[in-house]
Amino acid sequence: MATIKLEIVSPDKIVYTADINMLIVRSTVGELGILPHHAPMVTGLVPHAMRMKIGDTESLIAVAGGFMEVQPDKITVLASAAELPVEIDVLRAQKAYERAKQRLEALKDGKKTDPPIDSIRAEIALKRALARLQASGHSF
Ligand code: ATP
Repeated sequence: MATIKLEIVSPDKIVYTADINMLIVRSTVGELGILPHHAPMVTGLVPHAMRMKIGDTESLIAVAGGFMEVQPDKITVLASAAELPVEIDVLRAQKAYERAKQRLEALKDGKKTDPPIDSIRAEIALKRALARLQASGHSF
């Protein structure tokens, strides 16, 4: 089976590198499946759990957002943060999820807060938390 090199880099480290068969990502223009020999491209990534296939095994990696560059023989993910399932602190992600959810509910209920709630920031924080929970096997 043909392979393509995957390198996931965060600001402080190389999170993951391996030869894989397929990567499925949620980009800013929708879901994309990247196979070996894919045409070159660059796209933005939204917070989600990327799906990676090696042989018959599928694994998840949480990505908080960033960019992906694809070359026919290599995929580079430049992530603002990314974690393998074993690296995810589930309790921390659950707390982040609850915090973001409460902020969004307060906004929906028209509650006035000081400082005011930034809805876009809360929505993205919710998506980051969900990506971590999903990657660690704790789907909501
Ligand atoms: P929190 O509100 O819990 O800090 P966050 O979504 O704001 O979450 P980020 O800004 O995306 O956090 O990430 C900051 C750093 O913390 C990154 O290095 C990221 O890998 C790490 N990180 C965040 N949440 C978790 C988690 N649940 N488990 C492990 N590492 C995490």
